[in-house]
Amino acid sequence: MRVAIYARQSVDKQDSVSIDTQIDECKRLIRTNDVTEIYSDQGFSGKNTERPDFKRMLDDIEYGIIDKVIVYKLDRLSRNIVDFYNVYDFMKKHKCSFESALEKFDTSSETGEFLLNILASFAHMERQSIAQRVKDSYYYRAKTDGRWLGGKEPFGFTRCKINNLSSLQPNENINLVIELYSKYSEDTNTSLHQLVKYALDYYSVKMSATQIKNILSNPLYVKADKKLYDYYKLQKVQFVNDESEFDGSRALQIVNKTDQSNKKKVFNDTSLWVAYLASWKGVVDSRTFIVVQERLSQNKSYATSNKPTNKMLELSGLIKCAKCGHTVKMKGKYGSLSCIGRSEYRGYCNASFKGVKLANIQELVAVEMQHYFDTFYSKVQAEEQAKETIRQQINTIKKEIDLLLDFSLKDELLRDATLDKIRLKQEELTKLQLEWANGVFDTDKIENRVLHSSVKFDGEVQYNELSTEQKQSLLRILVKRILLNEDGSIQIEMN
Ligand SMILES: [Zn+2]
Repeated sequence: MRVAIYARQSVDKQDSVSIDTQIDECKRLIRTNDVTEIYSDQGFSGKNTERPDFKRMLDDIEYGIIDKVIVYKLDRLSRNIVDFYNVYDFMKKHKCSFESALEKFDTSSETGEFLLNILASFAHMERQSIAQRVKDSYYYRAKTDGRWLGGKEPFGFTRCKINNLSSLQPNENINLVIELYSKYSEDTNTSLHQLVKYALDYYSVKMSATQIKNILSNPLYVKADKKLYDYYKLQKVQFVNDESEFDGSRALQIVNKTDQSNKKKVFNDTSLWVAYLASWKGVVDSRTFIVVQERLSQNKSYATSNKPTNKMLELSGLIKCAKCGHTVKMKGKYGSLSCIGRSEYRGYCNASFKGVKLANIQELVAVEMQHYFDTFYSKVQAEEQAKETIRQQINTIKKEIDLLLDFSLKDELLRDATLDKIRLKQEELTKLQLEWANGVFDTDKIENRVLHSSVKFDGEVQYNELSTEQKQSLLRILVKRILLNEDGSIQIEMN
């Protein structure tokens, strides 16, 4: 296979990912027998396609010497959806597929093609998942230097500078942190409330049980070794650093734990967490930390979140408690649903979903989503008709103008009168053409045209005929969250 890697970085600061990093990420997708050619445009924006190496690549695609293009991210090809779609169409025409390293798109797979159409059609390319946004900014910065990203200093640490970068150093309170960890891990009878008392009695430090719990669950105190890596790996946390770097010499920092778009503190699913090695040393060993995590999650089986969420299939992570906004998870043998605001933060929420079945929620979601699609398609249809009407009006006026012109040429006496008529007709025509050009119609917007063409190709989307994987991808793009009420009814909030 002849593979092209395309990388682009503009002068814009938002384009934080360097050409080299992009190329490295793309190379991971290369197979042993592939012949690779690299194209890169440094200092060019994605606003248009006026980029030298990009043009060279398009030429090569046209000559048929490239089978696949790999990019780090879809927007490397173009930030403009019209251009993007044209390029995509061009590639398709020349039997060239493309793959994106970050978004895991491969147009040579059926799902990739499907997702691309849907994704492009809703023009949500800029609206990536929170995790990706975090990755783009913090991720690469932190990857190289492990700096402290700022915010409130963690208890027991003071901000400092190492090689001119923000970092943390232990202060006199660090011994209390170490003691809290050892007390809680060693004696199974110790409660958080006893630790509150201990901190006050022995260190004259006043803190709440929640503050202690936060300290006890933060890996920035921990010597990050292989064991810690495995612990988080099991929870599907994303890592910035390679496994081999987990040698216990540094602490671990996790970002994107909570949903920043929400005013209330709502925890993200652990698969959205991003972990990277910090520039400072940990003070607690990983074994103690993991024992503490297990103790903290005792009585509550939420720590191993992979299993219960997997059971929720396409809806995993999307269902939130209508009362408090926390995630609703599935637990236990019989798959009962419960709000983590109730199960993990006692007293925060009292919602009960007793008797509510996942299958019923799935059914309700299916109905709502189908309704969403049907509405969209009927709108497309109505606008297609309206467009057709305008098209006909324009044609009629053009013919009338032609006739009037003929007439005025034949009869000199009536020329002035006909010219006035022509002017009026011309005005009418301009108005219609403007209406057309200004995109009065939603279906004229490129994203909708793309959907429409994909719909024509695939037939209208029937939600229940999609695979679980397709449903999940679609819901992730379109749906912000699904609020679940205690009586089992839902409200879907679209993106
Ligand atoms: Zn709740």
